[in-house]
Amino acid sequence: MSQKTETLIDKNGLRIDGRRPDELRPIKVEVGVLSNADGSAYIEQGKNKILAAVYGPKELHPKHLALPDRMVLRCRYHMAPFSVQERKSPAPSRREIELSKVVREALEPAIFMEYYPRTAIDVFIEVLQADGGTRCASITVASLALADAGIPMRDLVAACSAGKVDDTIVLDLMDTEDKVGSADLPVAYMPNLGVVTLLQMDGILTLEEFEKAVNLAIDGCKRIYAMQKEALRAKYVSIKESEE
Ligand code: ADP
Repeated sequence: MSQKTETLIDKNGLRIDGRRPDELRPIKVEVGVLSNADGSAYIEQGKNKILAAVYGPKELHPKHLALPDRMVLRCRYHMAPFSVQERKSPAPSRREIELSKVVREALEPAIFMEYYPRTAIDVFIEVLQADGGTRCASITVASLALADAGIPMRDLVAACSAGKVDDTIVLDLMDTEDKVGSADLPVAYMPNLGVVTLLQMDGILTLEEFEKAVNLAIDGCKRIYAMQKEALRAKYVSIKESEE
């Protein structure tokens, strides 16, 4: 987050990629893309390309990590070395360790953890291409992969960020807006339950701007939720049709 160095909103009120302030990037979601995982999903959100794979519930090793009254959710957020312009080291970075925790904590409230005591579920997130907002897109796609694995859930989790660029509150920041803009506020939300499971903020906003940004992000989550449901439906309709 740096001081403003270039114009991010043009004289027509449009952003550098031509979007209106309250517009999401183009999103494509697909469920069941990997045959060897118990559940999987893929998302493209603007230039972001992210895969999620779920294994489990399964016996936990080492056994002393197992919990007597609930399952253990393990998440690994990983960026491929070729996911950004300058090759990223394949070794786990502090940022990836932090984002693995952030994603896990955003997903846990959606899962009936108590249904599977002493077991584990592994969620692997592979960022193939990154362009800002990958933690949100990772939560969106991982929640779909969990649903695809048949894990009992209270709701899907949809995530989206809002923020401030050139004194304008905008939805779904891409990398340049995130870096050059003045605030970024990622939100994860369970629309059916009306529960926020992640709220972070980088930068400075007034109270009014904060409220506007949270409401805009939640609105973005609701729109993404509709696409998640459609992607799940598309997979199961195609299975049903192939059985007929
Ligand atoms: P998020 O992806 O959730 O917005 P950050 O704010 O930490 O998380 O990162 C913003 C963006 O910065 C990423 O989406 C990615 O495009 C870029 N980025 C992250 N790590 C690296 C890296 N090691 N090298 C180059 N770009 C990176």
